[in-house]
Amino acid sequence: MSAPATAPATERPPATRLDARVEAVLPVLREDAARIDEAAAFPVRGLAALRESGLMGLLVPQEHGGLGGSSADLTHVARELAGECLSTAMIWAMHCQQVAALTRHGSPGLRAHLLPRIARGEVYVASVTSEKVKGGHLLSAHSPLTEESDGSLRLDREAPIVTGGAHADGFLITLRDGPAAAPHQVTAVYADRSRLTVEEGPDRWNPMGMRGTHSIPLRLSGTVDETAVVGRRGGFKDVAVADFVPAGHLAWAACWLGAVRGALRSVLKLLRSPAGRRQFDLSGRQLRARLARVRMELDAMAALLAQVTADSDRHRGTAGAGSPPVQMRLNALKVYTAERSFACVDQLIRVVGLRHGYMRHSDLPLERLFRDLRSASLNYADDRLLAANGAMCLLDREVSLAD
Ligand SMILES: Cc1cc2nc3c(=O)[nH]c(=O)nc-3n(C[C@H](O)[C@H](O)[C@H](O)COP(=O)(O)OP(=O)(O)OC[C@H]3O[C@@H](n4cnc5c(N)ncnc54)[C@H](O)[C@@H]3O)c2cc1C
Repeated sequence: MSAPATAPATERPPATRLDARVEAVLPVLREDAARIDEAAAFPVRGLAALRESGLMGLLVPQEHGGLGGSSADLTHVARELAGECLSTAMIWAMHCQQVAALTRHGSPGLRAHLLPRIARGEVYVASVTSEKVKGGHLLSAHSPLTEESDGSLRLDREAPIVTGGAHADGFLITLRDGPAAAPHQVTAVYADRSRLTVEEGPDRWNPMGMRGTHSIPLRLSGTVDETAVVGRRGGFKDVAVADFVPAGHLAWAACWLGAVRGALRSVLKLLRSPAGRRQFDLSGRQLRARLARVRMELDAMAALLAQVTADSDRHRGTAGAGSPPVQMRLNALKVYTAERSFACVDQLIRVVGLRHGYMRHSDLPLERLFRDLRSASLNYADDRLLAANGAMCLLDREVSLAD
């Protein structure tokens, strides 16, 4: 296992205890996955189970009451949750991404006040980075923070898509540092829901996939004090490079990988059942080749995920974290797993055919996962990451690969 993200190795949660927490949650996710997809509804029971399990505080250091989990723990849990319900897993993964930033860049006052509540499962933190004017671009912002005469900071922020926005207890929000600041001077603030006026947009959430994430438009307004600033004023880029992007890409990739692993398990279960053996020719070369390809892709994704997890832990807090080869691998992990996980589900649909692969109410979750995983390349646009990687590739003339 790799070095810890947030706590010394000796303080990490024992794997067995972590697995017991995960095991307690999985049945709820299994039972509700199809229903929340059908209704495009937030997984209320799934989130309650996650709160109860202690996993909402996986990345909170033990000194604040959390589990002090590592990046390897993050990807392990994400994989397992996504094997049952990708929407719920991504809700949890995005929450952990916010917690990674808060844990390492929150002010002492914010950490002391907030982290124990997250560890107790009281606070689910949603992400507000996208904005109508600038789309998904993470490192710019349009809507400004303004300073009030009493020193507090006012925000009035349109948020076009906020996962679990109706259920979040707090928000990590990016804003332009002030009315006169340039778009790249981005400040992140944390706000409890109770500090804000939260208005939901009129549009009903009715997407192709990831329907259980219930990602809705919000308008957030209110004031926070200086202690709510996460990282330096205007310095969100440092937070993003050091922790926000790594935690996000690792956890998302693990979710997509875990979802395909769950899909392959369900396909193998069908193929090896008595009914499956009657319907499919398990000695057929094409069927075997297709299964082999999916298995090969899964192993390749898992290997890259393990390498980037170790890479990211090794460089955390050092100048190496921002180096082009490390950044390129982190972005490549996101793009590669987004592309290959979607391709794998397509391949599995070919394996089992129309009845088991394409029908909405089939016992296998392939139709749902096909729609869900179509979002992976959009959930932070792959085109943006490939453009950034292309620019960094030109700088790395030695073509430094991982050891
Ligand atoms: C299920 C789901 C949940 C989400 N939850 C949240 C959330 O909780 N909070 C949040 O803030 N956001 C959330 N998002 C938004 C997400 O993170 C992206 O920001 C958003 O999907 C990007 O919108 P877009 O596709 O319009 O792409 P944009 O990034 O706005 O880009 C628009 C178009 O331009 C192209 N493009 C952009 N830049 C470049 C470039 N440099 N080179 C080439 N082409 C480029 C893109 O490929 C795309 O076609 C969520 C998205 C999904 C799918």
